[in-house]
Amino acid sequence: MIPFLDLRAQYRIIGPQLEHAVLDAMRECNFVLGDKVADFEAGFARYCGTGHTVALNSGTSALHLALLAAGIGPGDEVITVPTTFVATVAAILYAGATPVFVDVDPVTWTMDPTRIAEKVTSRTKAIVPVHLHGRLADMTSICAAARRFDLVVIEDAAQAHGAERDGVRAGAFGDIGCFSFYPGKNLGACGEGGAITTNRADLAAAVRSLRDWGQEGKYNHVRQGFNFRMDAIQGAVLGVKLPLLDDWNAARRRIANVYGRALSPLLTVPPGPIGLDHACHVYAVRVPDLDAVRAAVLEAGIATGIHYPCPVHLQPAYRWLGYGPGDLPQSEALARETLSLPLYPELSADGVDAVIAALSALTTEPLAQTA
Ligand SMILES: *Cc1c(COP(=O)(O)O)cnc(C)c1O
Repeated sequence: MIPFLDLRAQYRIIGPQLEHAVLDAMRECNFVLGDKVADFEAGFARYCGTGHTVALNSGTSALHLALLAAGIGPGDEVITVPTTFVATVAAILYAGATPVFVDVDPVTWTMDPTRIAEKVTSRTKAIVPVHLHGRLADMTSICAAARRFDLVVIEDAAQAHGAERDGVRAGAFGDIGCFSFYPGKNLGACGEGGAITTNRADLAAAVRSLRDWGQEGKYNHVRQGFNFRMDAIQGAVLGVKLPLLDDWNAARRRIANVYGRALSPLLTVPPGPIGLDHACHVYAVRVPDLDAVRAAVLEAGIATGIHYPCPVHLQPAYRWLGYGPGDLPQSEALARETLSLPLYPELSADGVDAVIAALSALTTEPLAQTA
C-alpha cells in the first residue's frame, strides 16, 4: 500500500533532532513565542528574502491578520479564487470584507490575471492570489493589475514554501505573504503554525501587535487583537526543518517530473518540466472519470487525494455569497477532474513506479472511453 502522505517517513529520519530541539524548548519553560520562535522568524525572513517574518498559530491567522494589517474591513471587496482551501475565503470574511471570485487559468490552475479588471469596483481593496499546489501564480501580471487599480497584494503561499521565480521567493512578490506550517505542508510543524512575510515594516508591526492582543508594550492595548501567537515548541521544530526545505522541495520536483514524463502521453498532467517556480506541495492530474479512477488505483494499493472536490463558491457555507454552478467554469471543471497523486520527499522510486503502473494500466481503457 502506498499512502498519499507519509509523515512517519520524515520522522524516522529527523526524529532525534526534533526531539532534542523540543526537549530543549520544554526545559526553557518559555512556552509561547520566545527565542526559538524569534530565531525561526529571522531564518524564515532570510529564506524568503523579506525584511520581516511574524510567526503565528496558523496559516488561517496569517491570512486574517494580513488583511487586518492592510486595513481591509467591512465594505471592502477582496479578489481571490474559488480553487483553494476554504481558509483563504474564510479569512476574508473574518476581516469583515467580501470575497469576489475570479476564475483560474485552465493550464496553471492559478488566478487568471486577465479576469481581474472586470471584477474591480470602487470597493476593491486587495487581491489574494493562491499559489495552488505550490505553483506560483502569475505574479507579474497580478502585481501589474494591483498597481493599476491601487490594490494590496496578499499572497496565499500556504502551499508554496520556497517556490521561486527570477530569484524572488513566494511571500516576497506582494505586500504580504501568508504561510501555513500545518504538518502536511512542505514545511510542517508538529502541530499548528503559520507566518506572514513582508518587506513593509508597518505591516509587520501591525501583525506583531494583532497576534498578541493588540499590545504595544505590556497591557497597552492600542487595537483589538487576538491570541494568535506561535508556541516555542513549533518554533523549535521549524528551526530544525527549515535548513532541509530546499532538499525536500528538490526531491518533490524530481518525483513530479518522473510522473510528468511517464503520464503525459496518457492523461492531462501539470505543464512541465516543473522548475523552481513550483514547490510541488501537490501533484494533481486531470482525469475524466475521477471517482472510478480513484477507486481503481486504490484497488492497486495506491492512495490518492482530491484538492479540492468542491470549489469554495459552491460550498454550502458560502452559497449565500450568491454564486452558483456555471459562474466559474474552469474552477468547477477542475473540481470534477483533479486527482492528487502520492508526493513526499521520502517516496521511493519503487513507489513512484507503482503509482505510474497503476495509472497506466487504467488509461488505455477506462479513460479513453470516457474522454
Ligand atoms: C493550509 C492552507 C491554508 C490554511 O492554513 P492553516 O495553517 O491550516 O490554517 C490556507 N490556504 C491554503 C491554500 C492552504 O493550503
